[in-house]
Amino acid sequence: MIFRLDGKVAIVTGGASGIGEATVKLFSEKGAYVVIADIQDELGKEVATSIGIDKVTYRHCDVRDEKQVEETVAFTVHKYGGLDIMFNNAGVAGSQSSVLDLDLKDFDNTLAVNLRGYAVFIKHAARVMVARKTRGSIICTASTVGSESITGFDGKAYVSSKSGILGLVRATCGDLGQYGIRVNSISPYLVATPLATKVLNMDVSEVEEFGVAAANLKGIVLKPIHIAQAALFLASDQSAYVSGHDLVVDGGFLAVNSTFK
Ligand code: NAD
Repeated sequence: MIFRLDGKVAIVTGGASGIGEATVKLFSEKGAYVVIADIQDELGKEVATSIGIDKVTYRHCDVRDEKQVEETVAFTVHKYGGLDIMFNNAGVAGSQSSVLDLDLKDFDNTLAVNLRGYAVFIKHAARVMVARKTRGSIICTASTVGSESITGFDGKAYVSSKSGILGLVRATCGDLGQYGIRVNSISPYLVATPLATKVLNMDVSEVEEFGVAAANLKGIVLKPIHIAQAALFLASDQSAYVSGHDLVVDGGFLAVNSTFK
């Protein structure tokens, strides 16, 4: 039975929309119990209801608030009896201004969601996994902009947060390997979600056209499900010896455009 998550328990942050929503649906189809941790209550509840509230639960959790994070982890363990998969995926785009106009309030907020929020969830999820001797999988959504500058996606806070996630994964997988806990990231290329439409000020089809035009791999539009499938691999036993890895889902974009090639 490959790529199954039968009986496993997952938390998906940012699970009310986009990549997170697609991942909640896929994990659930594969047999996992999922807690959606998000701040969009209506959307999150709709996702849970559409799948079935016996399998998926929505929980309001602002990843900037450590107390809410700790309570969400405790709630998950109480409701479903453990925690096997932590998918850190919530994100905000932050401002796209030049550094000359850097808005530090926006900078702090973007880092608080995209990086600090990931660290706090790793802390509390890993504590539970260690205490329960669970050989868990922690997955973090980074981005191709974390490794390489990409025109149009140069928000200082966003890029810093995504590079920071790659460092956070390296640093934490060292701590957690002794407990059999794996930590990995996924770096997606452009996916037409609400976050991307907002950054580019385009509608979904325009973002998809823009992505296809710049893409290396032709004949396919990158969708949230493609990122969810990468998350499924990292969550499943088929990646049992994969840790500290950044799984780039970009159709070869970075390989072709890298300044280090
Ligand atoms: P999205 O806007 O559809 O989803 C982001 C989710 O995060 C939303 O449901 C939002 O409510 C939630 N969120 C925001 N702030 C939160 C907070 N404080 N606490 C809890 N939840 C919060 O966008 P998406 O594209 O699906 O984003 C998912 C992840 O993918 C993000 O980390 C994003 O940076 C990353 N990413 C996206 C792309 C892309 O092109 N869309 C590319 C690379 C990486």
